[in-house]
Amino acid sequence: MASALSADANVAVLERETLPGYHATGRSAAISLMCIGPARIRALTLASQDFLAAPHALIDEAPLLSPRGMILMARDDQCETLLARTRDIAAAGIVVPINAEEIALRMPLVRSGYAALGMYEADARDIDIMALQNLHRRKLAGDGASLLCDTEVLSMRRLGGTWQVETSTGWYAAPVVINASGAWAEQVGSLAGARDLGLQPCRRTGLFFNLPPGVDPATLPMMVDAEGEFYVKPENGGMMATPADLTPSPPCDARPEPMDVALGTDRVRAAFDLPGITPVRSWAGLRSFVADGVPVCGFDPQVEGFFWLVGQGGVGIQCSPALAGLAASMIRGEAPEMPGIDPAWFSPSRPGVTDPALREPDIVTTMTDMQKTPKARASPQRPAD
Ligand SMILES: Cc1cc2nc3c(=O)[nH]c(=O)nc-3n(C[C@H](O)[C@H](O)[C@H](O)COP(=O)(O)OP(=O)(O)OC[C@H]3O[C@@H](n4cnc5c(N)ncnc54)[C@H](O)[C@@H]3O)c2cc1C
Repeated sequence: MASALSADANVAVLERETLPGYHATGRSAAISLMCIGPARIRALTLASQDFLAAPHALIDEAPLLSPRGMILMARDDQCETLLARTRDIAAAGIVVPINAEEIALRMPLVRSGYAALGMYEADARDIDIMALQNLHRRKLAGDGASLLCDTEVLSMRRLGGTWQVETSTGWYAAPVVINASGAWAEQVGSLAGARDLGLQPCRRTGLFFNLPPGVDPATLPMMVDAEGEFYVKPENGGMMATPADLTPSPPCDARPEPMDVALGTDRVRAAFDLPGITPVRSWAGLRSFVADGVPVCGFDPQVEGFFWLVGQGGVGIQCSPALAGLAASMIRGEAPEMPGIDPAWFSPSRPGVTDPALREPDIVTTMTDMQKTPKARASPQRPAD
């Protein structure tokens, strides 16, 4: 967002931590999925592809995206659910059905007999988060913008059309404040006197497994459970996994709970043939949602000069180019030129911000899992390792 504005505005990024990316951005699965989210999120993902796929001279044209592929995987008892949840995205050609043999060919680590049906997204791509951050950092530096770390916003007041922002390192003044403070956005909003959006941070746990010698993670797709109970993503010499937890949390430096680590490990062992495998590392991050699960990008309707860029849930990185472009246009007072996207979809004053009844149909792994209720289900017994 900051680097989308820095060419023609004086921009200062105020970051409480010593390094940007310490919280959600540095704890993600680093994937871009075309199929994820309701239609408004899919439109943002699509609109972000050109930027993410382009070569950028500032990072020596290092690719931001690399091929991965993703399979939504169903056991026998989950096939109906998978077909129902993927009806729209299959009709749009975003995913194609594949059978158990094709799943085994693409992901030989799936236990024999576990998967009955898959929906394959060929366009799922890894995002190089480090390269993306370097790109934005270099753009900011080149434009003369300031990236001020160890600088916590403590209070702010509006005087004569200008925000006076008090931080732990001094005062800053600007006509517009952009609230992009992730899980803390409600707190920062209240410093400006803005009404609550009902933003809810939710913890998600990450696990990292080493893979057996001879297994090359570069060739394996991401695998997502049809009911959103886990996913795994092969990467960097191993495999990231999560029990796809969605536990409401206050804003904090999130840590993994042992129960979630155990649950994630169990689910991975049930679905994949990885004898004796245990996570070598675990972490947690917060994904923040408003009621309809769609990001918020726009000026506060009541508080002058206060802009919200929050509630990106589990798609904040893959949608960042489009959201940053939209936000920059609105802040410059221009009509955003993004075909197929209506900025009103993301307005902080849309009814869906606070009304969960306006949540749109979704596939696994974003908001649908907030509706999860415990239920008995047939699950293959994990053979003794
Ligand atoms: C486990 C997990 C997996 C994910 N996987 C993906 C994925 O594969 N693809 C994808 O697109 N997205 C994914 N996401 C979501 C993505 O990480 C987030 O949507 C995105 O990082 C949000 O970015 P942000 O800048 O709003 O939040 P953050 O990265 O949390 O940044 C907010 C910043 O605001 C700062 N801040 C807060 N309060 C103050 C204050 N008072 N003063 C100064 N600074 C302050 C914080 O220090 C923080 O650095 C995942 C998230 C998690 C947790």
